[in-house]
Amino acid sequence: MRIRREDVEHVRLTTRIDEVVGEHLTLRSAGPGALKGLCPFHDEKTPSFNVRPSLGRFHCFGCGQGGDVIAFVQQIDHLTFSEAVERLADRLTYPLRYEDDDGRGAGARREPVGQRQRLVEAHRAAAGFFAEQLATSPDALTGRQFLAARGFDREAAAHFGVGFSPRTGEGLLRHLRGRSFTEDELVASGLAGQGQRGLYDRFRGRLMWPIRDVAGDVVGFGARRLFDDDRIEAKYLNTPETVLYKKSQVLYGLDLAKKEIGRLREVVVVEGYTDVMACHLAGVRTAVATCGTSFGTDHVRIVRRLLGDEAGKGSLSLSTDAFARSVIFVFDGDAAGQKAAERAFDGDQNFTSLTYVAVAPGGLDPCELRQQSGDEAVRDLVRRRRPLFEFAIRSAVERFDLSAADGRVAALRAAAPAVARIRDTSLRPEYARQLAGWLGMEVEAVRRAVGDAGRQARRDADHGGASAGPGGQGGSRDGGAPGGSRPVRPDPRDPVARIEREALECLIQVPHLVPAEDVDALGEGSFGVPAYRAVHDAVRGAGGMAVARTMSPGAWADAVQEAAPEAVRPLVGELAVAPLPADSDEALGRYAASVVLRVAEVALTRWIGSLRSRVQRLPADDPEAIRALGELMTTEEYRRSLRERITGG
Ligand SMILES: [Zn+2]
Repeated sequence: MRIRREDVEHVRLTTRIDEVVGEHLTLRSAGPGALKGLCPFHDEKTPSFNVRPSLGRFHCFGCGQGGDVIAFVQQIDHLTFSEAVERLADRLTYPLRYEDDDGRGAGARREPVGQRQRLVEAHRAAAGFFAEQLATSPDALTGRQFLAARGFDREAAAHFGVGFSPRTGEGLLRHLRGRSFTEDELVASGLAGQGQRGLYDRFRGRLMWPIRDVAGDVVGFGARRLFDDDRIEAKYLNTPETVLYKKSQVLYGLDLAKKEIGRLREVVVVEGYTDVMACHLAGVRTAVATCGTSFGTDHVRIVRRLLGDEAGKGSLSLSTDAFARSVIFVFDGDAAGQKAAERAFDGDQNFTSLTYVAVAPGGLDPCELRQQSGDEAVRDLVRRRRPLFEFAIRSAVERFDLSAADGRVAALRAAAPAVARIRDTSLRPEYARQLAGWLGMEVEAVRRAVGDAGRQARRDADHGGASAGPGGQGGSRDGGAPGGSRPVRPDPRDPVARIEREALECLIQVPHLVPAEDVDALGEGSFGVPAYRAVHDAVRGAGGMAVARTMSPGAWADAVQEAAPEAVRPLVGELAVAPLPADSDEALGRYAASVVLRVAEVALTRWIGSLRSRVQRLPADDPEAIRALGELMTTEEYRRSLRERITGG
């Protein structure tokens, strides 16, 4: 069984690719009809990921990934083609029809639904069940009290989908079996455990927070212990790793926060589910939390894409706006300094210049703070953040008694290595100066201590052998396509290459706007740059403009890509999404005609050159020379008429 072709086409055409892509990264305008963002498929700091909503296509100039919205969903969620179509159809609430492989055994049932989709449905059903239990079950009273004690009413619980898992150990199982989920699916979802006497509910007698992916599908749960007789000691229990749930990649609250994160260019990372709730209710709607793990490199990548982080510090780009981007970690309790130090000095320091730390007085978490002092106090906590390095270094200093001389010396010994570990050397003198101020010491003495600490660290690293940490120095990885699959790309500075490229962009993107008589001027061999000639051959091989005009632009681009040899397919993808310099059909039509005619003119000029040299090589009375001379004259005449059309005749 497969999904009917018409239905696939319907899903492809009615899904807005910018909306789907926008769930994973923040897109900004990149000229008429074009959007740009940070690529989700490779690590980059300047956006090379392009989306053309009107064509329904995307392409990354950095890694060469590209295609339509179905291809995007396949790649980002690791789905099969059918699963991706099902997911998108689900989004449109469009019922798919299936047929068998050899003909049309039509049917309106959804039989061979992909596993991922089934697991998403199981989670949706489970979330609904848990929420219902919290609202109605007498057993859930403890859960309702827990929430009420933290300032969350019924409405707040419903907004975040909080629920309660029955204590019996089989309430959810019964509910899901009643909806014809199989044993295999229940185990694969992580909602059920497999015991000796069969399946059992993984979560029993706990308060349940549904964890959603960035698109808003529930993919797992965080569960808090409520009862003393709970046989599982852990205060929090999460869904185990499944096809859907990867703890290194989920952030609780991201589905609710992502719009504000993109708008304000700020993300607030708190430590718990109730903290996310408290922040959002207090008006800090950029708050998220990790789920049972620390904020790691995958999280950094996800957040960076939503922030639209274009470069580290000091980027002087005059791009769309001048808002600073910030990542604010809200730490609570005694370990705040330690956590800040880990954040500051381990891993990806490119991110740290945007990173801030906020700590509430008295070690309160945002939820407690809101309880004690209200919404304004939570907003204020976030507002009073301090730069990460400053916070980390000060934390190292504040452990010592600075009123005594040996306390200050000990503090310097503790803090100097921290300053030395700032990888961006241009930031070190400033922090050395600040450190001197906090310690009440001479700047020069502090600078020396920092220098010594740096040399010591390098010696240690050399002996440890493990140099070249992540993101080590040297050429950046941006723009480097993985493993030799670098697309063929002609020199962009070559004026002929440029004009040929522009013409192909039109032939692929707006074939219906290219005047028919002008396309006819482009015969075989009209393109001089080999890669572009191969693309033009593919355009012709796919049926040329006559066929193109009967297809949707996206389908036409696919057809050209299919007709192209493997090596130039990424190039076709690029050409299919490159921004065109006009927006209205009328202006585009004029532009398309002019670039196509320019290519024809260049091709004719090339041809005239070879005819001339042939005429010159042959004896004047040779019949071949006479024939070539005749052709030369008609070709020159033709070129003249083309030139008149180009100059607007
Ligand atoms: Zn990429």
